[in-house]
Amino acid sequence: MLTEQIALKPKVKAFLEGKIELFIDGQFVPAISAKTFETYNPATEEVLASVSEAQEEDVEIAVQAARRAFEKGPWPELSAAERARLIYKLADLIEEHGEELAQLEALDNGKPYHVALQDDIPATVEHYRYYAGWATKILGQTTPISPNYFNYTRHEPIGVVGQIIPWNYPLVMAAWKMGAALATGCTIVLKPAEQTPLSLLYTAQLFKEAGFPDGVVNFVPGFGQTAGAAIVNHPDVDKVAFTGSTDTGKYIMRQAAETIKHVTLELGGKSPNIILEDADVSAAITGAFNGIMYNHGQNCSAGSRVFVHRKHYDTVVEELARLANLVKLGPGMETGTEMGPLVSKKQQERVLGYIEKGKAEGARLVAGGGKAFETGYFVQPTVFADVTDEMVIAKEEIFGPVVVVLSFDTVEEVIERANNTPYGLAAGVWTENIKTAYQVANRLKAGTVWINDYNLEDAAAPFGGYKQSGIGREMGSYALDNYTEVKSVWVNL
Ligand code: NAD
Repeated sequence: MLTEQIALKPKVKAFLEGKIELFIDGQFVPAISAKTFETYNPATEEVLASVSEAQEEDVEIAVQAARRAFEKGPWPELSAAERARLIYKLADLIEEHGEELAQLEALDNGKPYHVALQDDIPATVEHYRYYAGWATKILGQTTPISPNYFNYTRHEPIGVVGQIIPWNYPLVMAAWKMGAALATGCTIVLKPAEQTPLSLLYTAQLFKEAGFPDGVVNFVPGFGQTAGAAIVNHPDVDKVAFTGSTDTGKYIMRQAAETIKHVTLELGGKSPNIILEDADVSAAITGAFNGIMYNHGQNCSAGSRVFVHRKHYDTVVEELARLANLVKLGPGMETGTEMGPLVSKKQQERVLGYIEKGKAEGARLVAGGGKAFETGYFVQPTVFADVTDEMVIAKEEIFGPVVVVLSFDTVEEVIERANNTPYGLAAGVWTENIKTAYQVANRLKAGTVWINDYNLEDAAAPFGGYKQSGIGREMGSYALDNYTEVKSVWVNL
């Protein structure tokens, strides 16, 4: 395919050149300190836009607005059906602005425009529609206790929720969190990641246009240590939902203890993708490759440890290396790009650091192994063979396009080794034997297991981690529990 620069849509150009401010109480406002920060195009290393930077005092105002909106005014008076209509309207508007939003994802995050357009935007829209549907189906129970007494339950919105999201899927991560919170009637103070605030801030106008009352949704772009910590430590925030690194997750859990805030955490992983002796090897190779390389490996559920039965080991290593060498790297805003840059210099250095560790530990480098270009935060798709469980590259989350390939002999052995990690987010198993598939899936300690596939996601299917990969489940009906309190009411007849 010919390489061509994709022309900026006029609305994107105008957005980038305009003031990009906080969104609080239905208004676009500068930070009280007037501070701003810059966001970069990771393909060119150039400044993309300047964004107002929320500090503690801005978060304070946002939380007050969210509290007012939760308790007074139109939002708590709306029927569930009216809440649903607002969310449906928002989904329609996001869909209408899909090309603009996909361009902002490509520019700010680095992912290819066509991937954002085909995957991120529809996933975002579907998430909102799915939870719009749930708004009218949040039911309680009625329990007869004795002839004189009965009990009923109400699932009430938890209150003001703080949501802190990462940079790998800026719009999708926001939708995962906001869809369920809005369906249940909560109000929101959300901090996008400092690396990728643009697409979400663009949607602020769409929330307004959809008709959400002022203060229901507030966006406070800024940094983790300041705006993020202010949300986590605020006594009037009832719940924090976080996706990001395990270290930040631990910090949030410790801080939340002070006010017994409800917490849900989606953290890291080192997910095993297991190719058994009786697998359809060709399907498994494609699945294993996409399982790690999708979104440049910047994926919490990335299948970063590929375990291959010894019989297929050489074939799989050779094919993964061949596929890695075929990937066309380039800026997200060029046609034909299959893999863009990593999100930031920090991530590029981190991933290159792991690659150097892998070389030093004696793993066999069979593809990639370095930067792709002089400019931009690109890293070549990298494959390491002959990796052992003790190596750092087999233990720690790299969060880049780097796969380690390990061999095994028996099913028993591979289950034990796959589970031998503090993480438990996801896993894959490839086999043509249905009995083995179920048995292995049952015994893998992971929140999601894919059988003969990898990385499938749907708004209706729950997602979350075992062990240090997190607490709670997002998506599906399960996410509604994150945003509701159950009230038990007794009636004496
Ligand atoms: P991070 O956890 O520092 O950042 C994620 C979000 O948390 C951002 O919005 C950030 O501003 C915020 N944050 C950071 N410190 C905070 C604090 N003290 N209080 C409140 N909020 C805070 O992650 P990172 O530095 O961007 O990435 C580092 C590593 O984290 C990656 O290499 C990867 O391993 C992992 N990560 C995982 C995911 C995931 O989807 N699970 C996403 C991004 C990063």
